[in-house]
Amino acid sequence: RLRVNNPYGVEATMFASADVPVESAAVTELVDLLALQDTVRQVAAAEPDSFDLDPDIVRVAVTPDFHKAKGIPVGTVMATRGFVVPQAIGSDINCGMRLHTTTLTADAVAANVDALDTAFRHLFFEGGRDIPMTRNQRYALLTGGLDGLLNATPADLTTGLWGLVRELDVGRSLDRVERRGSLPASKVFGLSDFMGPADRPSRDGQIGSIGGGNHFVEIQKVEKVLDRTVAHAWGLKPGVVTVMVHTGSVGIGHLCGGHYRDVVRKIYPGALKHPANGVFVLPDGDRHRAHANLFWDALHNAANFAFANRMFLAVMALAGFRRVLGDDVGFDLVYDAPHNFIWKDEVDGEAVAVHRKGATPARGFEAMAGTPFAYTGEPVLVPGSMGASSFVMVGQGNAESMASASHGAGRILSRGDAMRGHDAEFEQFLRDFRVVTPVDLRRPDVRRRPDILAKKLEELKQEAPFAYKGVGPVVATLAAAGIARPVAELTPLMTVKG
Ligand code: 5GP
Ligand code: MN
Ligand code: MN
Repeated sequence: RLRVNNPYGVEATMFASADVPVESAAVTELVDLLALQDTVRQVAAAEPDSFDLDPDIVRVAVTPDFHKAKGIPVGTVMATRGFVVPQAIGSDINCGMRLHTTTLTADAVAANVDALDTAFRHLFFEGGRDIPMTRNQRYALLTGGLDGLLNATPADLTTGLWGLVRELDVGRSLDRVERRGSLPASKVFGLSDFMGPADRPSRDGQIGSIGGGNHFVEIQKVEKVLDRTVAHAWGLKPGVVTVMVHTGSVGIGHLCGGHYRDVVRKIYPGALKHPANGVFVLPDGDRHRAHANLFWDALHNAANFAFANRMFLAVMALAGFRRVLGDDVGFDLVYDAPHNFIWKDEVDGEAVAVHRKGATPARGFEAMAGTPFAYTGEPVLVPGSMGASSFVMVGQGNAESMASASHGAGRILSRGDAMRGHDAEFEQFLRDFRVVTPVDLRRPDVRRRPDILAKKLEELKQEAPFAYKGVGPVVATLAAAGIARPVAELTPLMTVKG
C-alpha cells in the first residue's frame, strides 16, 4: 500500500507487491490525472456557476493490475464531488463480468468439445442468435435496464432465445446483478438506428455480440475451492462447469462515450489552457445542468444495454449446451457486475461519483444487505487469460481501495509486442486450449486461406496467455491488502472469442 505523492494534494493509494510490478508509465499517467484537481479549480474560478458543490477529487485508488491505457490507467478508482469525468471510465461503458454455474461436468464438456465448438460458432458468429425485440422493448431496456425489459416483454413470448429467458426466470435472479442491472434514464439518447421499426419485432446486430479483443465467453471448470463456506453458498463445487461472460455495451457505449468526450471539450472555458492529458471534466451545476442530466441518461442507456448483452450471451451459451447435451442442462447466475462505470455512491459518508475504469466493486457483506450476498460479501471475478486460471473472490469492503478490486490479471505486453515472436509458446497454446472464433481454425478450407487464418491468429496472439500478467500474484496481492479473499480457482475448457 503506497501513497502516491503529488503536488495537487489528492489522497491517492496504490496497491502493489514484489510479485506484481508497477509500471512507471502508468504512475506518470496517474499523476497527470491528479492534475485534474488544478483543472477543475481553474474552471470553478473562471465559471463559479458551473458547479453546485465545491469541486474536488475526493480520493483516488489504483488496483494491483493497474496499467497504462489511453488517458487514464486501467485499474483507476476515482471519487469526485461536483463534477464527473466521462473519459475516466474508458470507451466501453459497463464492460463487466458475469458468472454462471451449470449442472454439467467437465468430462461431459470434454467428450463433446467438437460438437460444442460447432454449436457455439453457429450461435455466436453465424447468425444463430435470434433475439427479436420490438421498439417498445428496446426503449424499456435502455431506460429501465433488465427490469424494464422484462416488464415490457410479453410473458408468453417464446420466439428465438426468449423461451430460455423465460424458462430461466431471469427476473427472479436480478438480485444477483449489480444495481439489479436496472439504471434509471429519463430518455433514450440518440440511438434511433438501434431502436428498429415501430410496428414489428426486429433483430439488431448489437445485442448478443461479444465484441473483439479481450472480451469472451468462456466455459470453465471449478479446479479448486479455496473458501469452502463461500464457495458452497455460491454453488462452486470442484468439477462444476461454469460460464464466464466478459463484454460491455459494444457499439452503443462507444456512441454515448464518444459524444460526451466531444461535449466536455466544447464546454471547457475557452480562456483556460487545455489539460495536457486531454482529459476534461463535466461540471455538475446550473450552467451545464442540461448536459449533466443528459450525460447520466446516456451513461445509463449504455449500461442497461450492456447488462442485457451479458445476459443474452450467457443464455446463448446455455442454448449451445442444450443443443448438444440435452434439455436438462441447468444454469444458475452467480453474479454480474460492471468494471467500467460511474456510480453515484458514498465515500466516508459523502455523496460522490465513484469512477471505476477496469476495476470491479468489492464490497463487504455489510454493504450487501438485502441481496443474496448479505452474509458473504460481493463476488469479485478476476479472470486471468484464455490459457490460464481465473479466480472468484469475495469482497471485504476495504476502505482505502474504495471497495474496489482488480478486474483481471492485466496486460504485461502491448498488443504489438505480443504479436512479435513467442511463436513456439503460441503454437503450444493452440494445441493445449480450445478457442472458438468466427473463423473455424479446424476447417481445411480455412487452412487453405492463409490470409484469413493469419489475421485471426494474429488477433488471438495479442490475447495469448503470455500477453497477460500472472493472475496468481494479482489475487495474492488483493488478499494480502484485505481487498478480497479467494473463493475458487477456475480453469478454461473452451473460450469463445469474437
Ligand atoms: P479488460 O476489461 O481490461 O478488457 O480485460 C479484463 C481482463 O480479462 C484482462 O486483464 C485479462 O486478465 C482477462 N482476460 C482477457 N482475455 C481473457 C480470456 O479469453 N479468458 C479469460 N479467462 N480472461 C481473459
Ligand atoms: Mn472489460
Ligand atoms: Mn470492454
